[in-house]
Amino acid sequence: MDFSKSESLKNISEQHILGGVNSPSRSYKAVGGGAPIVMERGKGSKFYDVDGNEYIDYLAAYGPIITGHAHPHITEAIKNAAEDGILYGTSTTHEIKFAQMLQDAIPSLERVRFVNSGTEAVMTTIRIARAYTKRNKIIKFEGCYHGHSDLVLVAAGSGPSQLGTPDSAGVPIGVAQDVITVPFNDIDQLTEAIEHFGDEIAAVLVEPIVGNFGIVEPYEGFLEQVNEIAHRNNSLVIYDEVITAFRFMYGGAQNLLNVQPDLTAMGKIIGGGTPIGAYGGRLDIMEHVAPLGPAYQAGTMAGNPLSIRTGIACLEVLKEDGVYERLEKLGQRLEEGIQQGIDQYGIKANINRLVGALTIYFTEEKVTQYSHAESSNAEQFSEFFNLLLREGIHLAPSKYEAWFITTEHTEEDIEKTIKAVHRVFEKMSSK
Ligand code: PMP
Repeated sequence: MDFSKSESLKNISEQHILGGVNSPSRSYKAVGGGAPIVMERGKGSKFYDVDGNEYIDYLAAYGPIITGHAHPHITEAIKNAAEDGILYGTSTTHEIKFAQMLQDAIPSLERVRFVNSGTEAVMTTIRIARAYTKRNKIIKFEGCYHGHSDLVLVAAGSGPSQLGTPDSAGVPIGVAQDVITVPFNDIDQLTEAIEHFGDEIAAVLVEPIVGNFGIVEPYEGFLEQVNEIAHRNNSLVIYDEVITAFRFMYGGAQNLLNVQPDLTAMGKIIGGGTPIGAYGGRLDIMEHVAPLGPAYQAGTMAGNPLSIRTGIACLEVLKEDGVYERLEKLGQRLEEGIQQGIDQYGIKANINRLVGALTIYFTEEKVTQYSHAESSNAEQFSEFFNLLLREGIHLAPSKYEAWFITTEHTEEDIEKTIKAVHRVFEKMSSK
C-alpha cells in the first residue's frame, strides 16, 4: 500500500494546523508515530484516502457514523436542511420533534436541551447537578473520558478519599480538587469516597457501559448500587451516554440495563455525524436551567436545524426493524472470527464485545477496570494496527478505543476482516 500523499501532507499540515491534527487522538503517536492517513471520501462501510487506498472503517469517526458514510436517508436530510437555511437562531419545529423522539426512546429525559458536543453536554449536567444540590464535588471513574472541560480532565488521587490532580496543563489545582476518581466496577471504593466526602458530593458521573477504555460492561447490579449509594447521600447520578446512546439498542444503555440516572448527557450518534450534544433528565432538576432557573447554558448553534434534521434522519434509520439484531449478528461473527485467530496463533489477547462494538486487549487479563486495559500491550497493539491498516482495515489508533460496526457493514466485510486479522496474527506470532 502506498501512503506517499498522506505522508507528504503530514509535513504540510504541521506547518498550519498545530500538531497536524484537530484532535490529539487522530495523531498516530500511540501507534509508532507514522503519518496519519488523510481521508478523502467515504461511502457505506468504507472510506478512501488521498492515495486512493480503500479501507473497511471500524473507526466510524469515534462512534457517530453508525449508519456508515453518506447514508442516502441522511444525505437527503442534509440536502433538505441546506435548502431551507441551516441556522436561524430561533426555535424550530424540528427540535421539538427530535426532543420527543429522544424522550420516547429514553424516558428518563423528562426535559431535554440541545448543545453542540459531548463535552458541552457533560459539562452542563455537572453545572446543573451543582446548582441543584448546592454542592461542588463530583466523583468520576478511572479511565473514563468525559470531554475536555476542566473538571473532567482530572486523574485519580492515590485512593478513594484522595482528591484528583489535573490531567492536563492549564487545569487549576483548585478545579481538580473538586473531583474524586475511583475504579469502575468497584463499589467499595465508591462507598468509601462518598462516606469520606459526604455532603460535598454533588454527583456521581458514570458511563453506564464504558466506551473509553474499550467496551466494558458494569457487573450485574453495579449501577443500581451506584444509584442507591449516591441517592442515600442526596447526590445525583449523571450518565454520560455520549458513546452509548443508540449504540446497543434504540435507546440508551440505561434502557438496556433497566436503570435510570437523574441526568443524562449524549452526543455522537444522535447527530448522525454532525456536531451535536444533548442533555436531559428529571424535570425538577432541569428546571434549574435558564431561562427557568439560575444555572446558565446557552449556544448560538444549539439546536441548529442542520444537526437536528440529520439526527432525526439517523434515528429514523436506527428505528427500522432488525437494525440492532443485525449489528449483534455481525458483531458476534467478528468476535468469533478474531477469537479463533487468537487461539490458533497463540496470541495473548482477549475481547470485550457488546452488540456492534468491541475491543481487543493484548493482555490475558479480563478487562473490567481501567488498570486491566492499561496492561494491554501497547507495542503489540501498534504492530496489529499498522499491519491491519496495510490490509485495508482501519481501526482507531489507540489500544483503548473500540471497533464500531455500522449498519452498512456487510457479511463480506466481516469475513474479509477476519481473514486479514488472521494473516496479521500469523505475522505477529512468527516473530
Ligand atoms: N463523553 C464520552 C463518553 C466521550 O466518549 C466523548 C468523546 N469521545 C465525550 C464525552 C466528548 O464528546 P465530544 O468529543 O463530542 O466533545
